[in-house]
Amino acid sequence: MLSEKLVQKINNQIKYELYSAHLYYAMAAYCDSQDLPGFANFFKVQAEEERFHASKFYDFLNRMDARVLIYGLEEPKNDYSSVLDAFKASLDHEKSVTKRIYALTDIATEEKEHATISLLKWFIDEQVEEEDMFNGIIKKLQRIGNDSAALYMLDDELAQRTFTPPASPDTAAQ
Ligand code: MG
Repeated sequence: MLSEKLVQKINNQIKYELYSAHLYYAMAAYCDSQDLPGFANFFKVQAEEERFHASKFYDFLNRMDARVLIYGLEEPKNDYSSVLDAFKASLDHEKSVTKRIYALTDIATEEKEHATISLLKWFIDEQVEEEDMFNGIIKKLQRIGNDSAALYMLDDELAQRTFTPPASPDTAAQ
């Protein structure tokens, strides 16, 4: 049985993952307002990924016979000075997610809660991917600078992104 503390922290993480989806959806809307539908698509897919993260924690609590609680969300930032600005904000956000995942792992380790540790290992790996992905796009955007032809090429590339739930032992069984 999970401790009350761990259940509370995981419920907070569900909120944070849902907030991440909210934030990326706002970034998608910003990109659409800049006539960059490929970038908007990228953020819409990212929002779906975040909802998937929330549902992974949700399903875990449910399977562990703990109560899932859904909390209200703060209003996300809607305005950015450029797509580069939005991607820098995304990377900062992902770094804050990583810190939260590490803090959760510390608690689960202290409590010797091995099932939770196993779940969190998936998230630790996922955060490496997320930070690397945002970093990569930031570097491309920095190289692109004011070259609008190159920016539209990247927009076309990001238009191809689709959401595919990552395979993992517990999702495969669903
Ligand atoms: Mg996430």
